[in-house]
Amino acid sequence: MDLFKKDFIFQDIGKLNGIGNKFSKYLKSKRIEKIKDIVLNLPYSETDRSKISKLNELEIGKINTIKVLVKKLNFPRIRNLPNKIICQDETGQIEIIYFNSREGYLRKIFPLNNWIIISGKINFFRNKYQITNPDYVTNLDNQDYVIRNIPKYKLTKGVTEKKYRSFSEQVIKNMPQINDWLDKNFIESNKLLNWNEAIYKLHTSDEYKNKSSLSFRRLAFDEICANFITLSELRIKIKKRKKVKIFHQNISNKILKILPFKLTDGQQRTLEEINLDLNSNNRMFRIMQGDVGSGKTIVSLLAIANVIESGYQCAFMGPTEILAYQHYNLAKNIFKKLDIKIEFLTGKTDRKKKNEILKNLLKGDIDLIIGTHSLFQKKINFKNLGFVVIDEQHKFGVQQRADLAEKGGTNCDVLLMSATPIPRTMMMSMYGDMDISKIKDKPLSRKKVLTLSKPEKKINEIWNFLKNEIKKKNQIFWVCPLIDKSKFLDYSSAKSKYELINKRFPNLVGLIHGSLEKKEKEKILNDFLNKKISILVSTTVIEVGIDFPNANVIIIENSNKFGLAQLHQLRGRVGRGNKQATCILLFKESLSKNAVKRIKILKSSDDGFLIAEEDLKLRGFGDLVGYQQSGLKSFKFADPVIHEDLFELAEKYVFDINEKINQQKYEFLLKLFDKAGIINTKKI
Ligand code: ADP
Ligand code: MG
Repeated sequence: MDLFKKDFIFQDIGKLNGIGNKFSKYLKSKRIEKIKDIVLNLPYSETDRSKISKLNELEIGKINTIKVLVKKLNFPRIRNLPNKIICQDETGQIEIIYFNSREGYLRKIFPLNNWIIISGKINFFRNKYQITNPDYVTNLDNQDYVIRNIPKYKLTKGVTEKKYRSFSEQVIKNMPQINDWLDKNFIESNKLLNWNEAIYKLHTSDEYKNKSSLSFRRLAFDEICANFITLSELRIKIKKRKKVKIFHQNISNKILKILPFKLTDGQQRTLEEINLDLNSNNRMFRIMQGDVGSGKTIVSLLAIANVIESGYQCAFMGPTEILAYQHYNLAKNIFKKLDIKIEFLTGKTDRKKKNEILKNLLKGDIDLIIGTHSLFQKKINFKNLGFVVIDEQHKFGVQQRADLAEKGGTNCDVLLMSATPIPRTMMMSMYGDMDISKIKDKPLSRKKVLTLSKPEKKINEIWNFLKNEIKKKNQIFWVCPLIDKSKFLDYSSAKSKYELINKRFPNLVGLIHGSLEKKEKEKILNDFLNKKISILVSTTVIEVGIDFPNANVIIIENSNKFGLAQLHQLRGRVGRGNKQATCILLFKESLSKNAVKRIKILKSSDDGFLIAEEDLKLRGFGDLVGYQQSGLKSFKFADPVIHEDLFELAEKYVFDINEKINQQKYEFLLKLFDKAGIINTKKI
């Protein structure tokens, strides 16, 4: 029994009447290939042809609909002259112009001395109203087809509204009554609509305009479900059982005793959750979320120590070389009394050293390898990789994450760490029901960063302040943003700022940016760490994770160019020690309303989770550049902000039907959305 007459909506569009090779090609260039693509291609607006205008009240340049008497047809015998039909009503005359149309056809649709309906764009030429190639011409019997609001679809060159409408109407008219995969009660109690009705309404009423309409919500819900079902199937693969690990915890307890601080409650809880995962027979796929400065690194290193003690290798990947190097130094420091072999690898490691590392990884002579994404090149193989930690994971592409999980075969646990508190609905759309640990508290010693804003022209007021800070042996970050995508501009703006500041504070200023050699970067960072210099001018390379406990002031230029979450991250670079820290946001004249709001929020809050949510509200989902780059899929219908409740509902729903996912009805759902741009089974 074919419940859904799948054949119809999964057929090639070529099956529709009147489509032919030409239109088929045009539509396919817009990725409308199957009939279901027409079903999912919603109108984006409508053309109002619903009112008949008299010829003395036409609006030039607008689409008007008129009811006129055909008075005269004129077919010039000279080449290149257009055919012309003169029509009139009781208030005036109009010319209808055709280029390249056959006489016979025009005589048929313009019967002399008959009333007809015409709809098209009004021109005014040589003192006369004209319509050139009108969109519709029809006799009075069929006027209802034209005199109405007509849905407008994104069209490709070569397909007119009238033509596309004939296809979409065929589809809607012939839509098979599907046996809905959601049951009636569920639909009613959750303010959705049955599938057929939803599709019908979306194409024939203006409900497509309102993302909260019942019909739109229904389609959004289906899209989310399709996404989650795919993710949950994938997750089952990722979560495959691993070999039993003999798990030790002695080492982390030992390290904890010699640390100069006690873990916060959040750190403690997260470490326990990770240890439970490591100890279980299922592979870990967990993300540790914690605001900047919440102390994620130490938690991951403690877990790493446990895995090494249990006899497995670990890999720790940072998003930038600088950060990875800092982790490397920290690890060396923490593990120095233990028998743990640590190496550092980036794309810039020289060949000889690299070959040695490759050899030793394979032999199992390295316990912990720390580095950048170059850790996950094909030629790098481990003896028994048991645990992969990825810091600031949103900087990595989806593909890289997938590659690295594969390194350890089926036996490898994966932990992601992020300071970007991605809202839960987004997390779900990225990973489905991935496990999350949140560190909500911060080490007690931390004080709130005092946040100020200043127009750039008052930059002179800063110098004295800086002088004082330097006197107090405090250090200063000076951040110049990426004004342009161009590396050169980024570099030069930081460089010219460096020169300016260096004049005021000779020999106390360093400059760091992405195009410096590793050695130079290291030297400058070390100079800063060892307090040889007081001010570090940088591009946004310091954005992620670097820990300078003595840096107490951060000055952010052009701060209105940054998003809220990013500003918060940058600000988190200071205030890591126990002195009062200051963040100064410099901006050029005239801030936009939103920029003013952003600065206000930042001044009043230091809660990363709250800030991320406000950011989302201010910018809206579609506009969140950072999240787009994170490999987060974009939905065609569903919106993580507007449809938040549907994400939660879908999560429960998919969890409940877990066993039944292979049923035919879900197959239909998955097939329906395979090209909505959200599901790509090759990626995590
Ligand atoms: P993030 O979560 O932003 O990656 P880090 O792991 O870099 O934060 O930690 C920031 C700083 O806080 C480091 O200097 C670290 O040593 C320190 N730190 C971590 N945990 C604690 C704690 N429980 N008490 C005091 N300081 C801590
Ligand atoms: Mg960090």
